[in-house]
Amino acid sequence: MGQAKRRRDTGGTEGQGTCNGCKLCCIVTAIPEIEKAPFVPCANLCDIGCSIHGKGQPKTCITFNCRYIMAHRLNLKDKEILPHPNDAGAYVALPKDPQNVVMYVDPNDPAKWRGSAMPAYLKTLMLNAGVGVTIIDRGYQFKMDSIDEIDAMASVDLVELSRARGLRPTYALPGE
Ligand code: SF4
Ligand code: SF4
Repeated sequence: MGQAKRRRDTGGTEGQGTCNGCKLCCIVTAIPEIEKAPFVPCANLCDIGCSIHGKGQPKTCITFNCRYIMAHRLNLKDKEILPHPNDAGAYVALPKDPQNVVMYVDPNDPAKWRGSAMPAYLKTLMLNAGVGVTIIDRGYQFKMDSIDEIDAMASVDLVELSRARGLRPTYALPGE
């Protein structure tokens, strides 16, 4: 499969099934090969996407699959219910572990996903595919094993609660 998509190299930059201006995955995740820290924009980002796409992109980028892009590219049922990362304030990666889907929250608008179509999508995914969901939000990781937990996560800011309890992030932040 591979490289769908961090970030666009072909096709339009607008419209359904494309990144459409989203840069989230090139901001949120760490890319060890180029010492890119998580939660900072990659130095290789340019106006139309990745300036080194097809020109020696790190393996971490090449093996990444954005579930939204894949759903449209492969015409999967998911595409009817999975919101675009721009609308969700979060994106879902196709998992390396098929039993655990990972959703990454936009650190600049962390409340957005909770009011979007994403919680309903995650619940459908859990019901239909029997997977667990891990949410990465501002450095904190939350593992959801039941639909009730998704509802709970969508109703409160668990990062603020974690901070109030003195809990430290478990996903490395820049400078840590
Ligand atoms: S998260 Fe998905 S839609 Fe957004 S830039 Fe990455 S590949 Fe494109
Ligand atoms: S190297 Fe390119 S694809 Fe990889 S994070 Fe940076 S901008 Fe995105």
